[in-house]
Amino acid sequence: MRVAVLRERRGGETRVAATPETAKKLAALGCQVVVEAGAGSAAGFPDAAYVEAGAEIAPDAAAALAGAGILLKVRAPMAAGEGEVDELSLIPRGVLLIGLLEALTHPERAAAYAAAGIDACAMELLPRTTRAQSMDVLSSQANLAGYRAVIEAAGAFDKAFPMLMTAAGTIPAANVFVLGAGVAGLQAIATARRLGARVSATDVRPAAKEEIKSLGATFVGYEDEESRQAQTAGGYAKQLSAAFYAKQAEVVGAHIVKQDIVICTALVQGRKAPTLVTAEMVAGMKPGSVIVDIAADAGGNCALTRPGEMTVTDNGVKILGYTNWPGRIAHAASSLYARNLLTFLSTFWDKAAGRPSLPPEDDIIQGVSLTRGGAVVHPQLAAKA
Ligand code: NAD
Repeated sequence: MRVAVLRERRGGETRVAATPETAKKLAALGCQVVVEAGAGSAAGFPDAAYVEAGAEIAPDAAAALAGAGILLKVRAPMAAGEGEVDELSLIPRGVLLIGLLEALTHPERAAAYAAAGIDACAMELLPRTTRAQSMDVLSSQANLAGYRAVIEAAGAFDKAFPMLMTAAGTIPAANVFVLGAGVAGLQAIATARRLGARVSATDVRPAAKEEIKSLGATFVGYEDEESRQAQTAGGYAKQLSAAFYAKQAEVVGAHIVKQDIVICTALVQGRKAPTLVTAEMVAGMKPGSVIVDIAADAGGNCALTRPGEMTVTDNGVKILGYTNWPGRIAHAASSLYARNLLTFLSTFWDKAAGRPSLPPEDDIIQGVSLTRGGAVVHPQLAAKA
């Protein structure tokens, strides 16, 4: 079984889908791992490390994909017209493609995979169950994004996070407010606390309130009958009414003016991120305050966020709207992502056949499978196809 690992070609993507560590473990499963030259270099994994781990280096995408049975990717393969190489056209029929395929926001991709005879697994659709936890790419990447957001906020902040009592006087502790207390937000709270800040956070899911408090942060938020029903069966936040968001904005707005750092992580699955920080709120913040919007990939939680950019407002508030936050900590993010994929493959590995076997009735497989045998099979996409 040849396992291909390509260099990521989508703008700014620095991660890689297999590391020397996972390449070695894939080889132990009986796979021949073929890595496109330079695939790991932006994440700090040189070609030589893959060779040492028993992998082969291919000079280009076509050579890496020739004869492959499995293709490991971070982001969806490039299609015709998307970039320098039409990766899709190079993928052999019957390949098992595993990656963050952005399947729900790009439904045309599933149709293209079906037409190309590719069996595609979109790892962002993995069910958030206990059994799937070690394969949970959203959690592993969000965790690091939350950490990185706080580190970059501290770098952009020209005061200090902890209270510093010096012979020359005292510097007060920073006030950090975290919007959204999912995986990224909880890690942001923990990281900001470790740096000595005074931390508060908000969320709409009722379970999040206790989690915020258990990390030593203060809960600040608006709660009513609607927010008590704000969680879907899958554990995600629901889209709430305009009336709820208006009430929430009153509470957030009153709190935000006292904050030095605001870390935005609030998401509603499959939708644009909710706007929780308005232009008026930013105008009321102190000069030198920092807003880090890691929801920027989904449009951002701050109305003034420019996705992909760092901006400074007229009143001196820095807004870090960079996209792909896990890619800003590429070595660690690739290490965890690659292990998630390895766990997925080894969980469904048929030792006797020396290949994966994906039982269609398994809840994990049902969750991630987009296409199989030339047809779109995912329930949220099959109807559209
Ligand atoms: P997410 O990235 O979809 O959203 C981030 C956070 O934003 C969520 O906590 C959400 O409630 C919050 N949010 C949405 N709208 C908001 C608003 N208007 N104001 C404030 N906050 C708002 O979430 P996630 O990090 O992927 O976590 C989703 C769920 O999955 C959580 O319940 C989490 O505990 C659960 N989870 C379970 C497992 C597991 O059991 N294996 C693993 C990971 C996550």
